[in-house]
Amino acid sequence: SEQSDRLSVFLLTGIYRFEGSNAMFIDPVRILNRSYTRFRVLPSAYYSRFFDSIADNSTETQNNCSRNSKKRKRNKKKEKSQNLNPREQIADQRHQEVRSMLLKAHEALIESSEFLEIVMNLRNDGCDKEKCETNVISQDTELDFVEVGSVWQAPLYEITLNFHQDEMMEKNAGFPLIQFYEQRVVQVFNNLVANEGSSDVEAEFLNHRYIVPKKSCFYMSDLGKIHNLIPAESDRGFNLIVIDPPWENSSAHQKLKYRTLPNRYFLSLPIKQFTHTVGSLVALWVTNKEKLRSFVENELFPKWGVKYAATFYWLKVKADGLLISELDLFHHRPYECVLLGYCHRDDMNSEHLLRLNHVPNNQVFISVPGDYSRKPPIGELLLEYVPGFRPARSIELFSREMIADWTSWGNEPLHFQDSRYFLRK
Ligand code: SAM
Repeated sequence: SEQSDRLSVFLLTGIYRFEGSNAMFIDPVRILNRSYTRFRVLPSAYYSRFFDSIADNSTETQNNCSRNSKKRKRNKKKEKSQNLNPREQIADQRHQEVRSMLLKAHEALIESSEFLEIVMNLRNDGCDKEKCETNVISQDTELDFVEVGSVWQAPLYEITLNFHQDEMMEKNAGFPLIQFYEQRVVQVFNNLVANEGSSDVEAEFLNHRYIVPKKSCFYMSDLGKIHNLIPAESDRGFNLIVIDPPWENSSAHQKLKYRTLPNRYFLSLPIKQFTHTVGSLVALWVTNKEKLRSFVENELFPKWGVKYAATFYWLKVKADGLLISELDLFHHRPYECVLLGYCHRDDMNSEHLLRLNHVPNNQVFISVPGDYSRKPPIGELLLEYVPGFRPARSIELFSREMIADWTSWGNEPLHFQDSRYFLRK
């Protein structure tokens, strides 16, 4: 049946498109796994939140429910009595405009009971419980790259890449498998570190192990050094640029996780210089704050030379499929937005300009969030709107992870490459 076709596509790709809807559900673990050959992303390490509330024991669940609904009622009361200032009113208006569209998307998920069963089990997908859990408990602390990168010795630090390649020797029928090992030691900060191979690389840095996907590279530096990534020739530029800036945020929790930057710093990002001669699709993650939205529309996109095209929505659900917070909660919306636009170089020919695809507005992708402020990998969902050639030349700015065929830049692009997030196949 059609339903089971869609299920098997999901199991393969991590993308489930709801019928007759602008919505899809995505499993970041499955999407990320396509970047790896010898390792796979540990689902229990990715899904570090939003699975705990779903207890096997039904009384526990009931308790949670009633507690939540009490809290909700309280919040609702608070909200009603709250007078929105003019800026908040605009934000609320934006919300009202997409509200029913988001509800419809969510309904599509809730109505797919067979699929919800799969969602509920994403956390212990394909690995026996014991193995998954022992790995997560590993207590060694993660490296703080920002700290390590700011000491005077930083330029001297090196990372060791252990290349491993299995190559089929067709001619040699008796011994078809040949294994290559090669070790490379390179400067880790302010340097483009690449794995051009078609197999994962295990890397070592300061007694930590990182898994580097096939055909990927990273440049780990502060914003001040980003210009080193501008390609010397414009036909070496990128046609897909994803950006998740460290926007300033009033939330105390976020402040602890990474440093933020005032908006004016992002004006100088060299988006146009990064853009390939065929143009680029630019995807920018934003918060729901109106001040930020108007900054992007009125200052940032114009300064970058990006023409706004559409908005996509990331709707966040818990493992049981319910929204992580109430849709109408003003300060805790269960969704985030990606603003999409096209950038073209001044030296781009008009033939290419005409061919910039049109992105449909209001696409919704639903997923269970991973770690705090970790965004789902949306590159693949954007691919059909990327101008020019395939495979796309893609770059992620302020990245904390690596993906096959992508360049990752930020001050901690190895963060989620820590071996604690992986299982050996
Ligand atoms: N998209 C990422 C993910 O899904 O995990 C999250 C990115 S987070 C919003 C912003 C990132 O920008 C953080 O990793 C932070 O360390 C980094 N960052 C903050 N200040 C920076 C700077 N001056 N230069 C480079 N990166 C910086």
